[in-house]
Amino acid sequence: MTSELFRNDSYLKSCNSKIIKIEDDGIILDQTIFYPEAGGQPGDKGKIIIGNEQIDVLDTRYVNNEIIHVLENISNLSVDDEIECKIDWERRFNIMQVHTTLHLLCSLISAPVTGGQINENKGRLDFDLESKPNKEEILEGLNNLIKQNYEVSISSISETELDEKPDLVRTMAVQPPRGKGEIRMIDIGKGVDYQPCGGTHVNNTSEIREVKKIKVENKGRMNKRVIVDFL
Ligand SMILES: [Zn+2]
Repeated sequence: MTSELFRNDSYLKSCNSKIIKIEDDGIILDQTIFYPEAGGQPGDKGKIIIGNEQIDVLDTRYVNNEIIHVLENISNLSVDDEIECKIDWERRFNIMQVHTTLHLLCSLISAPVTGGQINENKGRLDFDLESKPNKEEILEGLNNLIKQNYEVSISSISETELDEKPDLVRTMAVQPPRGKGEIRMIDIGKGVDYQPCGGTHVNNTSEIREVKKIKVENKGRMNKRVIVDFL
């Protein structure tokens, strides 16, 4: 099992790791800072460094419950090699800002979430909603929340506690992963938004850039898509 360093500190930009397994298109490490694609958040990109050689990490994803770092080239690598990991921090920090903003969006629209997607400069959530929300109100609301300098904190609750409060889960189709006994919770501004999430977030909303544009699309009678654009 890979130790997932990004869960407790999403600001780690590099770390030393050891290769524990080599698969067809990538490697598995004893510990990593690379976030594997999950919950609408894309997998990290970056490099690994071994000796004088740098190899691009093209993607990071879960395959059979293991975190695979998809590499440009694995031909010179062996199990037990010591390497240095470096994520593409600029890209990840942008993703963290977009991701955290989608939590703030959940605090403005109380309807259940039916889907979502995050990239570097844009993110979207789909809501189980009949009427279109007002995009000007959302734009103003989000930028106002960002300016409140809310702290973002990580905590956990037991699976039993979550069973007693099923409303904490905002996503209709996706339930947080179970089996560890504990569920990772993200809290923004002490209750502005509080929900289970495994992704990477900024530590304070003041780190988020200004949202430039909101688009609302009709995706069905009970499905409205809200796109948050930073460009
Ligand atoms: Zn999150």
